Amino acid sequence: MKEIILIKLGEIVLKGLNRRNFEDTLVRSLKRRLAKIGNFQVKISQSTISVTPMDEDIDMDEVSDCVSKVFGIAAFARACVTEKDLDKIKEAAGEYLAETFEDEKTFKVEAKRSDKKFPYKSPEICEEVGGYLLEKFPNISVDVHNPDVTVTVEIRDFGAYIRAGLIRGAGGIPVGTGGKACVLISGGIDSPVASYMMAKRGLELTAVHFASPPYTSERAEEKVVELLRRVAKYSGRIKMFTVPFTEIQEQIREKCKEDYFTIIMRRFMMDIAEKVALKNDCHALITGESLGQVASQTLMAIGCTDSACNMPVFRPLIGMDKEEIISISRKIDTFDISIQPYEDCCTVFTPKHPKTKPVLEEVIKEQNKLDCESLAERAAEGVKLTIIE
Ligand code: ATP
Ligand code: MG
Repeated sequence: MKEIILIKLGEIVLKGLNRRNFEDTLVRSLKRRLAKIGNFQVKISQSTISVTPMDEDIDMDEVSDCVSKVFGIAAFARACVTEKDLDKIKEAAGEYLAETFEDEKTFKVEAKRSDKKFPYKSPEICEEVGGYLLEKFPNISVDVHNPDVTVTVEIRDFGAYIRAGLIRGAGGIPVGTGGKACVLISGGIDSPVASYMMAKRGLELTAVHFASPPYTSERAEEKVVELLRRVAKYSGRIKMFTVPFTEIQEQIREKCKEDYFTIIMRRFMMDIAEKVALKNDCHALITGESLGQVASQTLMAIGCTDSACNMPVFRPLIGMDKEEIISISRKIDTFDISIQPYEDCCTVFTPKHPKTKPVLEEVIKEQNKLDCESLAERAAEGVKLTIIE
């Protein structure tokens, strides 16, 4: 029996004249993501996208999982396709729904007839298909108000579709329609969640990771790659740049007052990330900061960090509690990787008493003990590129 996926568009239907652009981007990302599984025809007609497998041995659970992570989709359904012939429709419904009806007790049938040439009207289709199912499955009964299963029969241009219920989509808007931004990604819990949240608002992601070998290991960097792979299931392809950060950290440790160490390091991160972002057509930075979480994320500290770059900085977690952040990280399947104990450059040289109320002028005075420009230039030029798909 031929099974396909029918997709209902999300917020993008609200986008007026831009709608075409949004739809095209969504279809393109679907095609790209699905290509990893096999060959599919992806078509949009009458505000519904249909995904039809073109190979024999496609695992539809895998397809469903893939579609559930594409932004711009409000809901989708798995459906079986048959000819537009009432007897064929009944038979197909009986076969396709057999497993569903093993567990459920009540149902109703709804019909949608976008092909008005079909000889039966919607109420007749419901009656005929409903009657057939009642006869075939004696354990179920009709409940039109609160059914366990709603069976929908859609008569469309190219055939009849039968489906049972809708699956919730990832929501948001299609990745790429909002432009590109550069996320500062660590191996922690927060920055992968921040990445996911901004991709959901339509941003394509580029990532920057600061590594300080030999203080941080190759394994710590692989952990970040693994995290981004999980994020990429939602955001699509990510270009990741690893920035060599050792020289900068050693210089700060050598020349600056210890209690300014973290804040100066974070200012370097923003400055270098902005340089990488500009070279890669990104128009904002993203971080996983949350107000008050640690000393470098107090109001005053964030002010000092922010002034190190000119681009807008998106901090989608700023008002969230750790518990809320963790629940998203579990949902997107990054939590288990994030809690693996590998060192991050931020944790390698942590001052005993970091300033929680740094004053910008003093920070800059301290930072100017270093040759900031050439240090940042050198780091930005030493980046290594990894493509995450
Ligand atoms: P996370 O869980 O994302 O590591 P955190 O709570 O540990 O965040 P910090 O270590 O203060 O917080 O980092 C704040 C933000 O700075 C991170 O969310 C991330 O955006 C960025 N950041 C921290 N370390 C790195 C790094 N090594 N490379 C790139 N960005 C980093
Ligand atoms: Mg961290």
